[in-house]
Amino acid sequence: MAVIRPVSRRIAASRTVEGGGFVVRRPFPTRDLSLFDPFLLLDEMGPVEYAPGQAVGAPDHPHRGFETVTYLLEGEFEHEDSAGHRGRLGAGDIQWMTAGRGVIHSEMPSARVRRDGGRVHGFQVWVNLPARDKMMAPRYQDVTHDALPIARTPDGLASVKVVAGTALGVAARVQTRTPILYFDVTLKPGGRVTLDVPHDFNVGVYVYDGTLSIADAAPAPSGTFAVLGEGDAISLASAADARALVLGGAPLDEPVARYGPFVMNTEAEIHQAVDDFRSGRFGDIAR
Ligand code: FE
Repeated sequence: MAVIRPVSRRIAASRTVEGGGFVVRRPFPTRDLSLFDPFLLLDEMGPVEYAPGQAVGAPDHPHRGFETVTYLLEGEFEHEDSAGHRGRLGAGDIQWMTAGRGVIHSEMPSARVRRDGGRVHGFQVWVNLPARDKMMAPRYQDVTHDALPIARTPDGLASVKVVAGTALGVAARVQTRTPILYFDVTLKPGGRVTLDVPHDFNVGVYVYDGTLSIADAAPAPSGTFAVLGEGDAISLASAADARALVLGGAPLDEPVARYGPFVMNTEAEIHQAVDDFRSGRFGDIAR
């Protein structure tokens, strides 16, 4: 019999402003939770309804030492970087970017959304890289919405989009550097799902729509990040429509030195990253 992980802590997301001025809900890093090893950051972008000419994003900026995972629920983003990658992200699409030794990139609502306005809603998660991979060559894995694997319970009341890891026997397409789970769970009224998770993982649930009961505890409202305790499975249920992300990973248990968009193991490596960036060694976006 699987042991269901109980809720050990509840963190309320804080509202903050990122990049060129877009508003995010951020459960971590916050004063209450600085790190959720191996995850460094979870941002919910929007949902926001932009008027024509009002949409903002994150213009040219660097990253080194970790991965940024963008999952768009609504809207349209354009991406370009110093390694010559260019792409467009639509509703339901995922971009798993391994920054490794470093890229400069821009992440902006598409020209159409900037011109005409529109709704934008999505997530960005930062996944830390182990020391051995921090200086690897940058890599992209893109999964379009129609290629994203979905698992469903037999009664059809719960569905799980599998961004990373395996849920109900359905495996994700992306390859991760260390074992990671990233699920987007949708519950219909009366829906319930139990998902196996490895015993040694840190596992958390971020409720972003409706209210949802985790391990049969009192329902957690949208904007709650629940840190789970020990066990081998998680249980999610709801009396109404609800959605949540599940994040899980084997902790790296390595020192974390972070300074803005650089996340390394030591202060010396941070100084090196800043120096490399200021000296132009991250390259430029060709335009
Ligand atoms: Fe970025």
